Amino acid sequence: MRTDLETRLFEAVDAGFDAQVAFLSELTSHPSIRGQEQSAQTFMADELERRGFDIDRWQIDIADIQHLPGFSPVMGPYDDAINVVGTHRSQTKTGRSLILNGHIDVVPAGPLEMWDSPPFTPRIADGWLYGRGGGDMKAGLASNLFALDALTACGIAPAADVFYQSVVEEECTGNGALACLARGYRADAALIPEPFAEHLVTAQLGVIWFQVHLKGLPTHVAYAGTGANAIEAAIPLIAALHEMEHRWNAAENRTDDYAHMDHALNLNVGKFEGGDWTSSVPAWSIFDVRMAIFPGQSIDAAKAEIEQVICEAARDNDFLRNSLPEIVYHGFHAEGYALSQDSSAKAQSAIAALDGAHRATTGQTLEREAITATTDARFFGLYADTPALVYGPRAEAIHGFNERVDLESMRRITKATALFIADWCGTEDL
Ligand code: ZN
Repeated sequence: MRTDLETRLFEAVDAGFDAQVAFLSELTSHPSIRGQEQSAQTFMADELERRGFDIDRWQIDIADIQHLPGFSPVMGPYDDAINVVGTHRSQTKTGRSLILNGHIDVVPAGPLEMWDSPPFTPRIADGWLYGRGGGDMKAGLASNLFALDALTACGIAPAADVFYQSVVEEECTGNGALACLARGYRADAALIPEPFAEHLVTAQLGVIWFQVHLKGLPTHVAYAGTGANAIEAAIPLIAALHEMEHRWNAAENRTDDYAHMDHALNLNVGKFEGGDWTSSVPAWSIFDVRMAIFPGQSIDAAKAEIEQVICEAARDNDFLRNSLPEIVYHGFHAEGYALSQDSSAKAQSAIAALDGAHRATTGQTLEREAITATTDARFFGLYADTPALVYGPRAEAIHGFNERVDLESMRRITKATALFIADWCGTEDL
């Protein structure tokens, strides 16, 4: 039997759903790849302000966060890295406070000709919205906002402070979420609707980004034997890194959440550049690598092993032996995080509240999933003693071509989120 409040909240989500889809379409049309998030953040700030939230909009200052645990090194300046937080202040403050977090940044779209339609011109077909960032994770930003709207439509508000966060930098460092912590935002729980198919994420991996810089000896290709090819020299180094990946994935290294996965840790060479001229032996190359680690695995130890593996492989190369590769860290320095390991009463009751909200919405048991990626949940869970629930809609081809999000799934997540807010925070009359 549905309670009266459940029925009213569901009807409110349904009544607002066309507006929610229009909101998602407009948000997805902002090409908010790294460095170009401003127009999307302006849109978010306007939407929050229109609803009466207190708006905090600021530029991330590296000096505020670089000493904090969880900080990731960055390559460029943060002149254009703007966070937006909208705060709902409760009149009664009788409930538990909540952070609703989502990231506004999206990954680059890749070659446009591989999309069926332009990535930043969202289109809807067969119940899916297509577009870069629609799934990862603008549908989540939409569900957070329209879940709160549903409460408003019912004449109620959360009986605790709620902080609606739209952050940058999730896809490369997490420094946007870290900047929210540094600014003092704290709550009794955090909800992050990343697109993991309406499952509750019980564990996430850590991620390390690094670059390997190789030098070579340039000569005319007619005398290639006297030169040293900095591009071809990378191949055995990459092979050695994949051997390391294989070792790290061995059964004895896996944590409980990942015991059933043969290959949770993926090493990806994501970018490669080098050389200047087709008929010159290349004097340089740079490749960018992403490697994952298990929750509890030390970043420093992982880095030391990465460096050792690269240097050992380089010593097999006559030229590199005397000109060892340089390893540069930029981007993710992310530890793993497992909500499943949080035995606090706060975590247990937050999970129970979400279990109840999901069941009331879908009639199903909330499934658990250990994911092979990272999310901003780690900042709340590891560095702020705040259980972070990652629970969002079904999406496909995130980071790929024809990214799409299931709109009915977004509707269910919005309903469950509205129930979760009402339960976790309690309610007061508007
Ligand atoms: Zn995401």
